[in-house]
Amino acid sequence: MADPGLPRESREARRKRLSEILRVLKARYPDPQIPLHHRSPFELLVATILSAQCTDETVNRTTPHLFARFPTPEALAAADLQEVEALVRPTGFFRQKARAIVECSRRLVAEHGGQVPPDMQALVKLPGVGRKTANVLFAAAEIERWPGWPHDRGKPDGTGIVVDTHVTRLARRLALTAQEDPEAIERDLMDLLPPGEWSRFSLRLIYFGREVCLARTPRCSVCPLRRVCPSSRYGGFPPWMTRGRRRAPATRSNR
Ligand code: SF4
Repeated sequence: MADPGLPRESREARRKRLSEILRVLKARYPDPQIPLHHRSPFELLVATILSAQCTDETVNRTTPHLFARFPTPEALAAADLQEVEALVRPTGFFRQKARAIVECSRRLVAEHGGQVPPDMQALVKLPGVGRKTANVLFAAAEIERWPGWPHDRGKPDGTGIVVDTHVTRLARRLALTAQEDPEAIERDLMDLLPPGEWSRFSLRLIYFGREVCLARTPRCSVCPLRRVCPSSRYGGFPPWMTRGRRRAPATRSNR
């Protein structure tokens, strides 16, 4: 069935267009890395929670101080909340974030032996963690070959694709989905892409969204995807994204 609002296109034609998008993005970003600095699953979990509504650069400037003071889940679980608030203040929403990372650490210690569980169902039960954060961990685990974590995304283990603000915008501009809700976008992308592409595809979209397909000033005239992007003729603001515009409701998958 055609997606409401998107240009008419068969599923086969969309897959073919996506394979060209993949080809261009792979050539531009052959080996994309997780932009949040980390030395362990725990550090990436905390950094990802802190990255909500905040740039990765600010998080990367903040976390070295936080982890120098509280290097383990045990240390952060026992931390004084006000001290944590002061350390994470630059990332914004610092009270909620401090509470989330301390609570999350307490649960890791109490329920998972101080380890970040390599399990989607367990991860999304942790405070401050939704599908986006959990998928960041699974993407890093695959790319960085974390021991004890799945490296093969083909298994039906509940993992999926990181859908952040950049992936949401680009997937919609590229007419790969008509959805606004991150979990619905994730389902559409998972349906189009083989599991082996999931981790790096979202990273490539994130980098491309920062460099070319910017939120307010998309650089369509110089964009290497303009030939396969239905939004290029609208300067990046196609009718299916502007018509009847409303905010997507906040869901756990935004986290
Ligand atoms: S053509 Fe424009 S809207 Fe499409 S991906 Fe490129 S910059 Fe974004």
